[in-house]
Amino acid sequence: MQCEICGSDIKGNPIRVTVEGTVLDVCGKCARYGKPSDKWTPVSRKVSPIEKLLVTRKPRRDAFDKLEGEIVPDYAQIIKKARESKGLTIEELASKMMEKSALLRKIEREELVPEDTVRRKLETELNIKLTEKVSSQDQRGGGFIRGTTLGDVAIIRKKMK
Ligand SMILES: [Zn+2]
Repeated sequence: MQCEICGSDIKGNPIRVTVEGTVLDVCGKCARYGKPSDKWTPVSRKVSPIEKLLVTRKPRRDAFDKLEGEIVPDYAQIIKKARESKGLTIEELASKMMEKSALLRKIEREELVPEDTVRRKLETELNIKLTEKVSSQDQRGGGFIRGTTLGDVAIIRKKMK
């Protein structure tokens, strides 16, 4: 393989460059006379993966702005008690709320923290309150948040204020 500019033997792989629109395989010394050919330089065109890592998950502001406080830790018992005191089955309550009974069942088993809209429906249907206002910063260390995303985000939001 010879350099297409100076004609000297190329040891190893030639460097493909573009000189005035012509693609040439040249030696290392002559590579500076041309621009690197597109076909041989895909690496420089890659989007850095770091950029993707910098994209942070944005909290669902629309939902949390409506959140008056944090959901009480014993929401499941409160819902269950209120529902039973009204003589409603989960199915009956679910149909009143236009929600799936499976969803309510999960909430009562504490497998699921009701989202804002569901919580509001529960509060209305059962005439209960499922949130508590955390007025002072000291209450944050109470440990009543049991690893819920909702609670975590609420804490982050408070810190940002
Ligand atoms: Zn050369």
